[in-house]
Amino acid sequence: MKLKPCPFCGNDDELQITNDADAGIQRIGELEQLPADELFYYVMCVTCGGYGPKGLDEEPAAKEWNRRGGK
Ligand SMILES: [Zn+2]
Repeated sequence: MKLKPCPFCGNDDELQITNDADAGIQRIGELEQLPADELFYYVMCVTCGGYGPKGLDEEPAAKEWNRRGGK
């Protein structure tokens, strides 16, 4: 799935789909509100550190990112 440019900085070359385990849960304060035993995926912008809405798999995470992209 083609990801839209980052809505924060406009970059579209260094977007990656990551998850809590890869990114390190401490970085994402919002995760404290989510069930600890679920693994959430989201698109992260390497350039500015912005990240998109979380999904239960890579595809929904990418869809949510694209839905929000361009703001
Ligand atoms: Zn960005």
